[in-house]
Amino acid sequence: MADADFDVLILGAGSGGYACALRAAQLGLKVGLVEKGNLGGTCLHVGCIPTKALLHAAEVADSARESEQFGVNATFEGIDMAGVNSYKDGVVSRLFKGLTGLIKGRGITVIEGEGRLTGPKQVTVGDTAYTGAHVVLASGSYSKSLPGLDVDGERVITSEHALRLESVPKSVIVLGGGVIGCEFASVWKSFGAEVTIIEALPRLVAVEDEASSKALERAFRKRKINFKVGTRFHSVKSTNDSVAVTVEGANGEQSVIEADLLLVAVGRGPSTAGLGYEEQGIAMERGFVLADERCRTNVEGVYAVGDIVPGLQLAHRGFQQGIFVAEEIAGLAPQPIDEAGIPRVTYSHPEIASVGLDEAKATEKYGTDGIESITYDLGGNGKSQILKTSGFVKLIRQKDGPVIGVHLVGDRVGELIGEAQLIYNWEGHAEDVAPLIHAHPTQNEALGEAHLALAGKALHAHS
Ligand code: FAD
Repeated sequence: MADADFDVLILGAGSGGYACALRAAQLGLKVGLVEKGNLGGTCLHVGCIPTKALLHAAEVADSARESEQFGVNATFEGIDMAGVNSYKDGVVSRLFKGLTGLIKGRGITVIEGEGRLTGPKQVTVGDTAYTGAHVVLASGSYSKSLPGLDVDGERVITSEHALRLESVPKSVIVLGGGVIGCEFASVWKSFGAEVTIIEALPRLVAVEDEASSKALERAFRKRKINFKVGTRFHSVKSTNDSVAVTVEGANGEQSVIEADLLLVAVGRGPSTAGLGYEEQGIAMERGFVLADERCRTNVEGVYAVGDIVPGLQLAHRGFQQGIFVAEEIAGLAPQPIDEAGIPRVTYSHPEIASVGLDEAKATEKYGTDGIESITYDLGGNGKSQILKTSGFVKLIRQKDGPVIGVHLVGDRVGELIGEAQLIYNWEGHAEDVAPLIHAHPTQNEALGEAHLALAGKALHAHS
């Protein structure tokens, strides 16, 4: 399309859209970026960044509360939510300023307003139609609810409302024991609230290896975070100052739980309704946009990235897809993304981090006799003892083959996932990793020790 307004026209400036814009502009392409809200999208404004700021404040609260065990005399006087919010908002606003400057500096045209796909290569905002030789759909996701469960933003809230609370609730029911639900449960418990998680599946964070879920459950039990798994939401009654939630256990028995608030964290749906995708012949399934491994939709020249594409709804996945598409359009023929190689972290206390296959999927793929696994307890890791955290490193490898899954539990283990994902993505063998030197004392050493154990050379390893 020689006469298009842009080489690349992107609908949505979240992690997927803005990464695509930055890389495309860097490659010398003319970029239009349509955004109805704030540059940076969910992750920056109401997702990853503000929640991790809350989790850090929660860690500080725990440190103050537990200071005595380190011989430090400090008293925990409670949470000043205004102060917490100002710290959180400060982090977001600094990053937002930086991103806005970058986008401007790269000469990207930001088109403010709600866009709609009105032709295969055309996005209309208000009365103006813009064309792109290539179009990238990156409209993101929203918090879902359940049938019959109305979010009022007061007593029944989503994660967006939860990020704007002006005081710490006395008690909260968290509907959904996935990543977002467990992170908020962890924060609120550290802030002093009574927390109960309701999860329909048989375990918390069920996308993770079963051993990781069980370890998190043990830790949550110890922290007195209540949770009911295999339990479904039935109904809710709200009054001015509380909610009464009726839930149903696996045996059909109903019970009522009361709290100040109900957080609905039952997953995120694709933001695609009413945007003209279907009308333009884009293949969709349950509202998601179908894209192949090169992020191409079925309509030539139209790509899709991020949460609207079925798969892991993670910022770094969308980000990488955005970069991939920019390079694809520029003719660099990049390598497709291996979805199993995308690192995953739940930033609760303790954290869960993983990359590659869990034991169930590895067994399904290679058979019980085709894999080997080893679990190294953080009890043998000096830095973890210093931090007074417990957990493990679990490695799964193909028999006599590369490492195909790494699963970590413990405070701060999210920081170790970078090395784990390099091992996975480079198809490292335990024998390759075992001789690598890890600085002492670090939690990284646990990864080294676990690989030593898997290579049959355990020094401190428990199995
Ligand atoms: P989004 O970030 O949702 O961006 C889409 C953008 O498109 C938005 O800015 C929206 O305003 C815009 N848009 C939509 N429709 C239109 C339209 N018609 N016209 C113009 N603009 C439009 N992921 C992690 O990796 N790590 C985490 O720690 C993490 N924590 C999270 C915590 C919470 C509470 C939540 C909700 C999410 C979290 N995520 C996390 C997920 C992460 O935020 C998403 O995976 C990521 O933001 C997806 O990026 P995206 O570009 O697909 O969509």
